[in-house]
Formats: sequence, structure tokens, C-alpha cells
Amino acid sequence: MKIIIAGVGAMGSRFALMLHQANNEVLLVDGWQAHIDAIREEGLKANFNGEEVVAKIPIYHQTEVDKVDFSAELVILFTKVMQLEGMLQAMKPLIGKETKVLCLLNGIGHEDIIRNYVPLDNILLGNTMWTAGLEGPGKAKLFGNGSIDLQNLGTVGEQGAKPVIDVLNEAKLNAHYSENILSSIYKKACVNGTMNGLCTILDANMADFGETSVSEPIVNAIVSEFFAVAEAQNITLHLDEVMAQIHSCYNRETIGLHHPSMYQDLIINHRLTEIDYINGAIVRKGQEFGVPTPYCSFLTELVHAKEEIIGAK
Ligand code: NAD
Repeated sequence: MKIIIAGVGAMGSRFALMLHQANNEVLLVDGWQAHIDAIREEGLKANFNGEEVVAKIPIYHQTEVDKVDFSAELVILFTKVMQLEGMLQAMKPLIGKETKVLCLLNGIGHEDIIRNYVPLDNILLGNTMWTAGLEGPGKAKLFGNGSIDLQNLGTVGEQGAKPVIDVLNEAKLNAHYSENILSSIYKKACVNGTMNGLCTILDANMADFGETSVSEPIVNAIVSEFFAVAEAQNITLHLDEVMAQIHSCYNRETIGLHHPSMYQDLIINHRLTEIDYINGAIVRKGQEFGVPTPYCSFLTELVHAKEEIIGAK
């Protein structure tokens, strides 16, 4: 399949490498010049489950896509959410009438942005449990396993998504069709909407936060706002499942000693966060549906204050 990865950071690099290894025709589009230069000069490199791999894949800056002649059958979006609209604008010449567009970004409400550029029948909205890291320009760190759930929110349903699911599975990306993608997106957002912002503001790993005497009431208050906003949209969530997933983050034997990705982005790398599309999205949807969201609002403001103090970009 002819595939464009639009946004080739940590996750985009993983998908690019795995789809390239499975003999798809892959093209990369990104906006970070140092990364583009490194990939052009030396290929896209990765430590892939302990093995050093390099793939020669063409890459273009998003401002030069008008020079690209490529009829993409699939575009996979992997920017950070703040970069999504700019990338979609830039990608206009490469998104044809038949091009499927897959979005696996964390956070809520991306379909509202994407549908301004892509017909609903061509949008595949999903959620992924794959992970990835970047060591620096041109070099990714890819460990472990994952999966993808995705759904078409238009009229073509599973049949329309099948060719994409087959291609993802040939690349061992473990993709499944879901009839209920908004539930899984909200479930993951509950975990990100508690662990990410709280550990970032408190400068704590997930286990240290979870073991404080006040973790439970804070988490309950935030999660209840996600649930109320989900309920207003008839999205079903199960509290026991969501809380079990949050509690599993506190386990020191597994992931509890890690700082969540928002902490890495803001505190370590001084980059802007996706808070507006996690807790901030709950605030906006809460306003739309008349649901009060004071905890999500406060946490969003705290993270923005921290971004300003640090001078995040
Ligand atoms: P990323 O920050 O690695 O890359 C996103 C974009 O930012 C890319 O265009 C990249 O080139 C650019 N970028 C990265 N580092 C930069 C730097 N130092 N300076 C300038 N530009 C830089 O993002 P990601 O981790 O690939 O995440 C993409 C989306 O997938 C996000 O919505 C994220 O929440 C979601 N996600 C990430 C993971 C993960 O494990 N990384 C897992 C699941 C979902």
C-alpha cells in the first residue's frame, strides 16, 4: 500500500519502520528540520527491540509537499495534537478523494478537526497501545508490543476499514476493528487525564503519587468529570475497568517508577503539552453539554502555568 506517515516523531517512526519492513511504499512528512536532515543523510534509525536497524525512506518537510508526486492510499497522522491542524493544512495536496486517514493520537475530539479536511467515510479513528521514544533527530527507541483499535465513524464501517486493518496486520501492528472506539478513547483519556497532568505538576512518578493519602479523592474527582461528559454523549464507560487501569500505573514492579510522557515532554524537554486535548477537551465538552468540570479546568490551567514558567515551545 502507498502510505504517508504525517508526523514522524517517536510513534510515526515506529509505524514507518514496521510498515516499510512489511514492503509497503512509505513516505514521510514532518516539520522538524534537524530530524528530516538526519533521516535524509543517514536513514531512519532505531533500536528495535534491542537490534539496531536503519531504513532508507524518503522524507519531506511539510512545507514542501507540493513537490511530492505520491497518490497515498493511506495517511497515518502522528503529530502531537497541537500540530495536527497545521499538518492537515499542509497535507491537503496529498489527501485525495479515496485516501483513508488514520488518527491514533492520544486525546479527545480529533475527529472534529480532521473532518474539516477529510470526508467522514475516509476517517479511521483509533487508539493504540504501542509505545515509542525518540533518542534524538533520526533515531527512535522501539520496545515491546502493542495493539490498535480503530473505527470508521461514517457509513462505510468495518468493510471500509478492512484493507487498512489487513495492511497494519501484515506489518504485525496488531489492529482490530472496534464498534465502540469512543469508549476506548475516553478510557485511555481517563488514565492520561489523571497520571499525565498530576505527575507533571507534582514532579512525581506514578507510584509516588498513587501512594499519597490524597491520590484517590483527586483521581475520583477528575474521573467523575470524564464520566459525566462521556455520559452526556451516550459514550459508555465502566468505572471498575478505568480505576483498575489507573491503579495498575502505581505498581512499582511494572510501570510505577516511570514519569508519564507529559512529564518527559514538559519537564525534561521543555515542550508544550497535549493538556488542551485531554483535560482541556473535557472542559470544552463540559461547557457544550452543561457539565461542570472544575478539576479538569484547574489541572489544565496549572499545566499551562507550568508551560509558561518553563518557557515551553
Ligand atoms: P513526538 O513528540 O515524538 O513527535 C510528534 C512530532 O513532534 C513529530 O513531528 C516530531 O518530529 C516532532 N518532534 C519530536 N521531538 C521534537 C523536538 N525535540 N523538537 C522539535 N520537534 C520535535 O510524539 P509521539 O510520542 O510520536 O506522539 C504522537 C502522538 O501519539 C501523540 O498524540 C501522543 O500522545 C500519541 N501516543 C504516543 C505514544 C508514545 O509512546 N510515544 C503512545 C501512544 C500514543
